[in-house]
Amino acid sequence: MSEKRAVVIGGGPAGVSAAIYLVRANIPVTLVYRDMGALGKTGAVDNYYGFAETVRGPELFERGISQARRLGVNVVEAEVVGLRWDDHLTALTKDGAYSGDVLVLATGSARIAPRIDGLKAYEGRGVSYCAVCDAFFYRGKDVSVLGNGIYAYHEAKELTATARTVTIYTMGLPAAFENSSDKIRVDSRKVAKILGSESVERLELEDGTIVPMDGVFVAVGVAGSADFARKIGAEVEGVRIVVDENCATTIPGLYACGDCTGGMLQIAKAVYDGAKAAKHAIAYLRSL
Ligand SMILES: Cc1cc2nc3c(=O)[nH]c(=O)nc-3n(C[C@H](O)[C@H](O)[C@H](O)COP(=O)(O)OP(=O)(O)OC[C@H]3O[C@@H](n4cnc5c(N)ncnc54)[C@H](O)[C@@H]3O)c2cc1C
Repeated sequence: MSEKRAVVIGGGPAGVSAAIYLVRANIPVTLVYRDMGALGKTGAVDNYYGFAETVRGPELFERGISQARRLGVNVVEAEVVGLRWDDHLTALTKDGAYSGDVLVLATGSARIAPRIDGLKAYEGRGVSYCAVCDAFFYRGKDVSVLGNGIYAYHEAKELTATARTVTIYTMGLPAAFENSSDKIRVDSRKVAKILGSESVERLELEDGTIVPMDGVFVAVGVAGSADFARKIGAEVEGVRIVVDENCATTIPGLYACGDCTGGMLQIAKAVYDGAKAAKHAIAYLRSL
């Protein structure tokens, strides 16, 4: 019987957690990742276990990758462009293919950012991509959400608990959600510029109106990660990969974990998911 192998796509908390559990079960693992994922955009992380001092997202990412390497995971930096499913599950990159008897998708959720002057410059200084992470910093302040869908509305709802005012800018489109909250204003004008000095202070709208603003939350869809699953026929729901309670997809041997499966988009959940996906992938491998 040939040695069973695992492939993990994604080097964030979910992928690294899955790889660690797999390799410690004596299964050879190749982890392929493109970049830092969500942690590359994350400033201070204060709600994850074990850090007396604040840890920044990129440092947490580097620590995870180093830990995986130390435990013997074969870590490859490459972009996966496709998946193949025959007698194995194979991740295809520009320069090579990585096959396993099990494959764990942990590709995160691609958060789409609109092109607006100042958006990039103020990331982490008033521009955020995560209401549940950062709402606390905007207690009693004026915030806006850029986006037009259930995701944007959900972020806005999250912010109403702490912020003074919450406005959703649907960026030139009629609202694609039902607003049942009297705390949320909806404005269909496009935001042209985000302005401030050290941090965000105001918005300039397309018609030249200046609006005082302390925080801008970007929630333009959650897209991308389900594409791989879709490629080989695993069930997806919008941008979310459908998994059962064991993180198993509808394809035998294909597991998914972390942000790409939806739910709470947080590090703690991604780490737990990774461990769970690995546990069930190990059981699956041993049953072959
Ligand atoms: C601005 C911001 C602030 C946040 N703050 C917090 C916080 O304070 N606390 C908290 O708990 N959570 C926070 N989060 C959320 C947290 O970062 C995510 O929930 C967590 O990183 C999800 O882990 P993941 O492994 O599922 O995905 P990610 O961390 O996004 O990792 C995805 C991985 O998949 C890789 N990948 C994607 N596509 C490909 C491909 N085609 N080929 C190869 N590799 C690919 C990426 O390169 C990356 O390595 C924040 C997120 C953001 C954006």
